[in-house]
Amino acid sequence: MITKEELLKLAKEREDELIKLTSDLIKINSENPTGSQREIIDFVKKYLEDAGIEAQEVAANEKYPCVLAKIGSDEGYSIIINGHVDVVPAGDLTKWDFDPFGGEITDTQILGRGTSDMKAGVACAIFTMKLLKESKAQLKGNIRLHIVSDEETGGEFGTKWLCEQGYAKGADACLVAEPTSNSTIEIGQKGSNELVLKAYGVSAHGSLGNYKGDNAILKLSKVLQNIGRLHNVKGKFTEDQEEALSNSKLIAQEKLNHPGIENVIDRVTANVGIIKGGNKLNMVPDYCEAKVDVRLPIGVDTEELNREIENMIKDSNVEGVEYEADWKNFGNSTPINASIVQSLKKNAEEIWRIKVLPAYQWASSDARYYRELGIPTIQYGPSNTEGIHSYNENVDIEDVLNASKIYLMTFCDLLL
Ligand SMILES: [Zn+2]
Repeated sequence: MITKEELLKLAKEREDELIKLTSDLIKINSENPTGSQREIIDFVKKYLEDAGIEAQEVAANEKYPCVLAKIGSDEGYSIIINGHVDVVPAGDLTKWDFDPFGGEITDTQILGRGTSDMKAGVACAIFTMKLLKESKAQLKGNIRLHIVSDEETGGEFGTKWLCEQGYAKGADACLVAEPTSNSTIEIGQKGSNELVLKAYGVSAHGSLGNYKGDNAILKLSKVLQNIGRLHNVKGKFTEDQEEALSNSKLIAQEKLNHPGIENVIDRVTANVGIIKGGNKLNMVPDYCEAKVDVRLPIGVDTEELNREIENMIKDSNVEGVEYEADWKNFGNSTPINASIVQSLKKNAEEIWRIKVLPAYQWASSDARYYRELGIPTIQYGPSNTEGIHSYNENVDIEDVLNASKIYLMTFCDLLL
């Protein structure tokens, strides 16, 4: 029976194969929303089938297919590994120093759109499954692959749909291969929600605006001046969430480098993203609305938040302003002592020889759909964050090779 050490040796011998696989995935343009996902999905299916792994295509929308696969036995511990193959559009090609779909490999990096977000992560996932399959490792359970092609434009037809359809049923853990720093395992996140503020006024001829009518834009702008108040509302963390909370605050301070910014982790944040009001220049507007992205931390009391919104409107001293909010995306987390967290932490520390901290992120991702089903879910993947959703995206070869080893070692610990 093959051991963890033998598998690790095998992974080292076949490093070039993983680098080429990552580059091959980059060469297939899978821009979303502008491109097509057909070719990249076919590539992933063929890669798995060539390795003797049965691959199944399922889809809620034929433009955005998903690939499912499994290795191991039907019984026992079951881990899902999740990744998306769609990438954000390359945008203005003149701003790139290289061809975003060239898949160029330098001495230390692989270059192109989607290297970090997240074709390197997908490559690590399918390469690791191939190694385990080909080496006939005897798994005391199984690894299930969830590859989706709709993540970058909302994810309706990707992970959310797979979870709704029951494809995650029975899983004991989930690893999302999305980009993270080498020293951070993401074990929780905030929830993003839409708050709509609506102001109603009275229209009049624009020439009489100083005397007649009731300007809805001016009224709403008074309320929006006070939107910062929502940041006073705090989440509530249990005792066993304190460690990850303090890790997260440290990471936020280090990465975002702005006084007080660590508070984004455990407080509500509110960003006025869209405002619409008025129909004509020469009319006093009778309606104006603003859409606010409100991020809820773990454990927030939405009753308290509603009261804060009502008080914000009241204290702005304007009549005729209402709000609408349907709080449905909450902060979510995986216990820090879950075996997938502790096992990946140990292996990442061994490979990188640095301290690796489980932490909560200030943004959100597909991990939440698995957490909503009660599946302990973590996010850890190879990346250089600077080029993500921007120009000159790249990934360090060392990151890719190390991530694949960390995945392999974690699967071995949990399944061999
Ligand atoms: Zn991503």
